[in-house]
Amino acid sequence: MYDPNRFIESDPAIRRVAAGEPTVWINPDYLPVEVTDGLCQLVVPDSAIDDAEARLARFASFIRRRFPETEPTNGLIESPLADIPRMQQALEKEYGCTIPGRLMLKMDSHLAIAGSVKARGGIYEVLKHAEDLAIAAGKLTMEDDYARLDSEEMRDFFRQYTVQVGSTGNLGMSIGIMSAALGFRVKVHMSADAKQWKKDLLRSHGVEVLEYSGDYSKAVAEGRALSDTDPMSYFVDDEKSVDLFLGYAVAARRLKKQLDEQGIAVDEAHPLIVYLPTGVGGAPGGVTYGLKRLFKNNVHCFLVEPTLCPSVLLGMATKQYEKANVRDFGLSGRTHADGLACASPSSFVTRVLGNLASGDFTVTDAKLYDYLRLLDSSEGKRIEPSSCAAFVGPCQLLTLEDSRRYCAEQGLTEEALANSVQIAWATGGRLVPAEVWEQYLATHLD
Ligand SMILES: *Cc1c(COP(=O)(O)O)cnc(C)c1O
Repeated sequence: MYDPNRFIESDPAIRRVAAGEPTVWINPDYLPVEVTDGLCQLVVPDSAIDDAEARLARFASFIRRRFPETEPTNGLIESPLADIPRMQQALEKEYGCTIPGRLMLKMDSHLAIAGSVKARGGIYEVLKHAEDLAIAAGKLTMEDDYARLDSEEMRDFFRQYTVQVGSTGNLGMSIGIMSAALGFRVKVHMSADAKQWKKDLLRSHGVEVLEYSGDYSKAVAEGRALSDTDPMSYFVDDEKSVDLFLGYAVAARRLKKQLDEQGIAVDEAHPLIVYLPTGVGGAPGGVTYGLKRLFKNNVHCFLVEPTLCPSVLLGMATKQYEKANVRDFGLSGRTHADGLACASPSSFVTRVLGNLASGDFTVTDAKLYDYLRLLDSSEGKRIEPSSCAAFVGPCQLLTLEDSRRYCAEQGLTEEALANSVQIAWATGGRLVPAEVWEQYLATHLD
């Protein structure tokens, strides 16, 4: 066991984090891509991201047929990139901050099928597993039209197998809905933070939902143990999975295409700054990795976590990785940001992001609801509280001393920032039921 007090005493950022203050941690090991390039290729080569992208393309005809909502994107699960100038103004006015450049919203909150960023990684991993099984059994070749997976014969084949996952909610929904659509049996192990409506929705898809009184790590551990006793069962391991990570990494190429289509350049004079709500680290980790591969030093990726549960920040800042637990620092881990309530971070992601993430902002629960209302009133868009964490980044970038220093050191001059695009990555919301929106909109915390 490490000694949390040693870190609290020696690192001012960790001291503020342990005191529950909203703050920023700037990554002292952040390095230019020229230095990290070779290492990245060893960990997850670009060819693995190519492969993931090609796999999603192979499944597009199946997805389009099974989920007609993906018709407009030809079976690709992709979200809009929207300008939010009124939100930008509203934030500046409300908080007296300056947000330079063009503020945009990457609306993974509205991704098809799962209504959250988990539609990238979670669905990708299920598809990969299904493809592996079907090819090994001689029931599919990569040259086939995958629409044929939408048949009684294939569902009967997949029904012999079980997919299991531990989740705070959204991962379970993406794995559950896609696994059930293919025919798999599915068990989702839900932590105590998981919302009732998410459990109800999953059960309506025929998914078996198991509930635990403990936190997320507990649900994962129980699920993993149960799955390991069954040779026909596959466990999606959010704390370690490289396949999940690859599914998320594909987002970067899709974003580049959208930026190109909108005539938005990303280069030294036009930097891209991205803010990613972070739970265990998988989704923001994969997206960050993909973005760094493409945009190199011209993209700056900041993670965002609740002040009550900054596990990835602590895992990286202390270099204790998955061993770090927010409770060791006197934080409860109990946050209204249910999608971010992971008390310990991913072992894989905290290591992979070691030299790539620029830093990590923390946000109070109260702010999540304030941002939620502000986005609703200014832009008429609704994203769930966890997602709203992203907005603390653009508000604080030039407000907090450490992030101001980061900008100065990284060549993010006033002029470069004025030409920048800042993206708040919205990670969930589309499936939230109407009565839950009313609760969210009416929630005011101190
Ligand atoms: C899962 C999730 C995240 C973060 O993803 P991790 O892989 O857990 O870091 C962010 N926002 C929402 C709404 C999520 O469901």
